[in-house]
Amino acid sequence: MPELPETLLRAREMNAELSRRTFASAELFQPKCLNLPPTEFAERVTGATVQGATHRGKWMFLHLGEQELLLNLGMGGEILFHRPDEPLPDKLQALFTFTDGSRLSLHFWWFGYIHLVSRAELPQHKMTAGLGVDPLSDAFTVDALAALLAGRRTRIKSILLDQSQIAGIGNMYSHDILFRARLHPLRPANSLTADETAALWRSIRETLQGAVDLGGTHWEQNLYGQGGSFDMDCLLVGYKEGQACPVCGTNVVKIKTGSTASFICPACQSL
Ligand SMILES: [Zn+2]
Repeated sequence: MPELPETLLRAREMNAELSRRTFASAELFQPKCLNLPPTEFAERVTGATVQGATHRGKWMFLHLGEQELLLNLGMGGEILFHRPDEPLPDKLQALFTFTDGSRLSLHFWWFGYIHLVSRAELPQHKMTAGLGVDPLSDAFTVDALAALLAGRRTRIKSILLDQSQIAGIGNMYSHDILFRARLHPLRPANSLTADETAALWRSIRETLQGAVDLGGTHWEQNLYGQGGSFDMDCLLVGYKEGQACPVCGTNVVKIKTGSTASFICPACQSL
């Protein structure tokens, strides 16, 4: 499942590759993924020119002047760029063709979103309007994190995964974020000391930026069909049940944390 590093990288790639390209047509094969009827969607996007691409949380935004094309890969998928004569994948949910003949295909493994929203309507777009702070942005300071945790008894892992608080962290990167900070996922947010909050802030940045620097996960493809370099060997305790903790050698265990599973070192991350 793509998280912040993969989403940020795809947006960066689309910004570089698609800016100044104009949509000639759109073929939309899965109406459930759309926020508009397919015909209206295609009519509205045709003729629009990409002015740039950015991300917020797990959403990508293609800026089209008066409109925004919003993409979310859900559990995973591919957004692939194709030069005019390059073959297309067998399975796809949407195909955008640009005026120069190049194309952009979207394939969701399970379910994703393709929304077209006018710039004026964007603040009312429910799925993106309430997204929290970007943990790699300058706005995410130690003080900002401390303010999110203050006075709340919510478990720390729930806050990390709450997209309305911090946008872009999912289950996969959360295990090593908590391990690096030596925090048990079920610690109440308001129980963290100032030092622990600072450690958590550093850990969030290091874990996510480290994955960005490696091009994201190996199992997500970039715009050109290549996987990133972050593979299972890059994980410290995540999905390493029964293996030795890289710090103290204790066996990593898998525990239940609400609706999710967590991988922790029971010695380094005591409750
Ligand atoms: Zn340990």
